[in-house]
Amino acid sequence: MSLVVMKFGGSSVADAEKIKRVASRVMERRKKGDKVVVVVSAPGDMTDDLEAMAEKITDNPHEREMDMLLATGEQVSIALLSMAINHHGMEAVSFTGPQAGFFADLSHTRARIKHIRPVKVMKALAKGQIVIVAGFQALNAKRDIVTLGRGGSDLSAVALAVAVKADVCEIYTDVKGVYTTDPRIVPEARKITQISYDEMLELAGAGAQVMQARSIEVGKKYAMPIHVRSTFSHETGTMIRTEVSNMEEVVVSGVAYDKNQAKITIRNVPDRPGVAAKMFGALADKGVNVDMIIQSSPIQGHNDISFTVPGASSKKTMAVLEKQQKSLGAKGIVCTEHMAKVSVVGVGMRSHPGVAAKFFKALADGKINIDMISTSEIKVACVVKQSDGEKAVRLAHKAFKLHVAKSKGQRAKRNP
Ligand code: ASP
Ligand code: MG
Repeated sequence: MSLVVMKFGGSSVADAEKIKRVASRVMERRKKGDKVVVVVSAPGDMTDDLEAMAEKITDNPHEREMDMLLATGEQVSIALLSMAINHHGMEAVSFTGPQAGFFADLSHTRARIKHIRPVKVMKALAKGQIVIVAGFQALNAKRDIVTLGRGGSDLSAVALAVAVKADVCEIYTDVKGVYTTDPRIVPEARKITQISYDEMLELAGAGAQVMQARSIEVGKKYAMPIHVRSTFSHETGTMIRTEVSNMEEVVVSGVAYDKNQAKITIRNVPDRPGVAAKMFGALADKGVNVDMIIQSSPIQGHNDISFTVPGASSKKTMAVLEKQQKSLGAKGIVCTEHMAKVSVVGVGMRSHPGVAAKFFKALADGKINIDMISTSEIKVACVVKQSDGEKAVRLAHKAFKLHVAKSKGQRAKRNP
């Protein structure tokens, strides 16, 4: 008998039929003898719809009230799912985040979990009940309801799995797991059997939209195995877990694609201490998420600094920098929109040289110009023109033979 946390996203509980299907899935698990905690998101697009409703009332809602509003979506799902299970004569009980013992800090709309005291959850489990918990919400020290940031139910699920000492946290979604790349771009993309937390974090940061990145960080911190799998089939999905040595045999695990980035270049800034701190400090204050940063080496006491931001943040970024231009002493600021980022990720890179070279060659053979490059220990990322993006993904996927199934014991060659 194991204790499992099963998380279902909004699309899995979008209507009555789907809720009934999730209920059967959950009951089936309980009947097998496992103890089951379920975490659910709001039905379908309800969170978006609630946001849209608020926008119709005011363009500046108090964040506290926004949280009051957004937290209602999940409450709809937990009650309906619990009813669907009770209807079949099995015992289920629903709890809001606060009832389940989620405590968070004082920030609204993107609060961080401080701790979880799952007293009611444990009691219900001990009684043999199926426990249904609302994702995305918690209580703060003022006894106000807060939400954990969009996509936050993943975080609720993983954190709760840690708190109740579950054997595994299962994330149910409409795809069969984590793929080597987006199957809509590369139809031969394969489902990955197992992947490390670090790789998954890099993939999430580089544009793969499987799970919320914060939830993976929590999984990593507490070594909670996360099983990403399909709501609609019983097939095993992808296990995100602590790195084991044979993971390194696979040099590149996946190719991530972020199709909408903008490149900002500040030309000719004086090469003196504090310039970068000032510039990026101002951007951070405005909540701009800066990604790749490249500074050229100085020529005659000046250099260029380029970086990327999500396409949607380009206007805000330019506005912040234009205000700063004079005090920075820069000669100009240029924004290039419609860029894309293609990243290859794999823990095997640490021990297998030549990954970057192979990636660059694949792009070169496809006559794709690389605009910017950045690397981490387990990632090589290239910024290219948006119009070249999908082709670059296909070339990289092919170059690293990601379409070929890796059988057990098949070792990567020293030179990838
Ligand atoms: N319902 C929330 C959202 O749509 C939380 C979640 O789905 O994970 O962001
Ligand atoms: Mg959602």
